[in-house]
Amino acid sequence: MDEGKDREAFVTLATNNSYSQGAMVLAQSLRRHGTLKEIVVLVTPQISLDVRHKLETLFDRVVLVDVMDSEDEAHLSLLNRPELGVTFTKFHCWNLTEYNKCVFMDADTMALTNIDELFNREELSAAPDAGWPDMFNSGVFVYKPSRETYLALISLADSEGSFDGGDQGLLNTYFNKWSTSGPSKRLSFLYNMHSTATYTYSPAFARFGKDTKVVHFIGAVKPWHHTYDFANDVLHQAEGPGIHEEVFIKQWWRLFAESADKIRELEQEMHYIS
Ligand code: UDP
Ligand code: MN
Repeated sequence: MDEGKDREAFVTLATNNSYSQGAMVLAQSLRRHGTLKEIVVLVTPQISLDVRHKLETLFDRVVLVDVMDSEDEAHLSLLNRPELGVTFTKFHCWNLTEYNKCVFMDADTMALTNIDELFNREELSAAPDAGWPDMFNSGVFVYKPSRETYLALISLADSEGSFDGGDQGLLNTYFNKWSTSGPSKRLSFLYNMHSTATYTYSPAFARFGKDTKVVHFIGAVKPWHHTYDFANDVLHQAEGPGIHEEVFIKQWWRLFAESADKIRELEQEMHYIS
């Protein structure tokens, strides 16, 4: 499609209200650092209308995807493998063919600086996974939307499944040349700093952590599970392994407050207009 030639976007995904909070912070973090790209969120019908409206104030586009309703191959495959639901939903990002190039970012990521330079990279560019560095972590990747790729991913999911049960296993199987494809496709770990690095290799974090460009809050406990008392600067950590740096969680909460303010302002404006 011609019109898609120069269009580029950051893309994220939220299948429920709690991940939407992460998506809001991600959008706010990209805006705050002056991105010139569009910011798109894929949502599923599980997200309440109210939350969808809030997302609309922060994102350029909120795109509703519903694998279960579609009548294509994805639908058929999913019926056989219901456990791949969320995984399939992430692959929907390849259907945004009105864009020439996109950067997918998990809803539990947060940019600390402008990262528009990622659009100079080609599919599939990603950073190594901290747990198995010959694989890429699928929380941040540069890709080229293509219906063909989408269908190939779905077909692979159907025939082989994902060896880790999630999108990362399947994407690494599909893009299996990544680790040997040279430096241009290997993003610096700074673009997807999974916070476990802060305790598995704390001297490296002490040395390089200040250059982090994107924080990725991997694992079961996400920033929105904690609470932050802004006035007293006290973070109340949720139960579970506390693997993320406090300083980043607090930053996440500040951005969350900013995005909430922005939504409130816009809602008030709408109220005056109507
Ligand atoms: N996701 C979602 N709903 C879910 C689980 C995941 O929308 O119930 C999306 C969201 O964008 C999330 C991504 O899929 O960031 C990958 O999941 P997660 O970040 O929880 O995995 P981790 O990075 O901790 O391995
Ligand atoms: Mn993640």
